[in-house]
Amino acid sequence: MGLKTEELNEFRAMLRMIQARVRGDVEQLEEEVFSANSNADHASSNHIGDMGSDAWDLDFSLRIVENDQEFLKEISAAIGKIDAGTFGKCEMCVEAGIPDAKTWIPKARLRAIPYARNCVKCEQKREENS
Ligand SMILES: [Zn+2]
Repeated sequence: MGLKTEELNEFRAMLRMIQARVRGDVEQLEEEVFSANSNADHASSNHIGDMGSDAWDLDFSLRIVENDQEFLKEISAAIGKIDAGTFGKCEMCVEAGIPDAKTWIPKARLRAIPYARNCVKCEQKREENS
């Protein structure tokens, strides 16, 4: 029931690709936020009327970066699990002491969400409880 080495390599490549993509976006966003910041310093004397909306834009951009950081954490956790040999197992099933052979997340789910921590059943349970 476990994943084959070539499947693990495939998932690792997938995760790395997502990671690079999100990271690229994050860096670009941070650059935009940074330049927006320095522009605001230069323009503040001329554009006092616009400052309210500028502050909102900046706050909004930073919030996106924050979410991406969370997302990146999930991605690196998944890559870490590939290295540790626990990738593809449902964390909640393992925690509940379910026999090893039944803790595997279906491959179709992993292909759709390679950073999934839980199987569909546990994810539903988790959502109901939160
Ligand atoms: Zn589960």
